[in-house]
Amino acid sequence: MRATAIATALLTAALAVAPTQAAHAAPADPQPEHAFADPAQRPAHGTAKSTLATTAAAGGGKLESRILPLLHTCSPTLRIRAQEMTSAQLTATCASLANQDAFFHDVVGDSGPVADDRNTTLEVDVFNSSADYKAYAGRIYGIDTNNGGMYLEGDPSRTGNQPRFICYERTDVSPGWQIWNLNHEYTHYLDGRFDLYGDFNASQSTPTVWWGEGIAEYVSYSYRGVPYTSALAEAGRHTYSLRTVFDTTYANSNVNRTYNWGYLATRYMIERHPSDVATVLAHYRTGNWAAARAHLTSLDYEADWNAWLTSVATSS
Ligand SMILES: [Zn+2]
Repeated sequence: MRATAIATALLTAALAVAPTQAAHAAPADPQPEHAFADPAQRPAHGTAKSTLATTAAAGGGKLESRILPLLHTCSPTLRIRAQEMTSAQLTATCASLANQDAFFHDVVGDSGPVADDRNTTLEVDVFNSSADYKAYAGRIYGIDTNNGGMYLEGDPSRTGNQPRFICYERTDVSPGWQIWNLNHEYTHYLDGRFDLYGDFNASQSTPTVWWGEGIAEYVSYSYRGVPYTSALAEAGRHTYSLRTVFDTTYANSNVNRTYNWGYLATRYMIERHPSDVATVLAHYRTGNWAAARAHLTSLDYEADWNAWLTSVATSS
């Protein structure tokens, strides 16, 4: 259904989705020990509430133009719409995203966009603060804003579809200014275009959260060279079997399981079992979700998984 959809915080443990506009949000936190300290920054999964909002926005709605007047073109495939950003901030943001492309493609080993994906250009919509995001993003884009930002993939097969991620600036973080979740959300865009056939809902027909959120966290932290302290501390607790992490869905309310353990499972598979990753991604890229799921559930790496968790664990 395209007309209505409801954004749902992961913390509510509910996935009230009947949408085509889907989103991801998560903590790409430079201070991992504080990743979930503020409920407003916690990750959410949501969807646009109405196509009216997104359609109006895509056409340059008046409120969007008034609140986000700054339009900056990074490249033919990427533009930023913002409340206020300096030229230095725009340049740095464009560079951070542009340079992430090669890193991502090296990790996932794709051979180009998946079939029927027309999400050639991305818009990044940047509010000045969490308060501005809460005040305006719901009205402009039809999303819930009790979260740390959202990626709206839309229907990638539709000509004229505009994928966008909606985010905000933070100045209460190290190194002093950043667009919150920038590289995590950008990974969702790349993953949706190069790894996951169809729209977001299609990718949820079997449990794929381990990969979707895991690769977003993996690329965000490893690309930036930031240690994912909270995840490495979680590793030492051996909380979940690999199979349990493979079973994670957005109905799961435990953010550590979704993000920290998604990261750990994805990193483990990339480091230790790249051929399995290639097999699973080949199925994801053609929308053969059941085959991917069957492959994942046929694996038995639990002993090696636990040894690996011990090897990467740090004390927190
Ligand atoms: Zn995410």
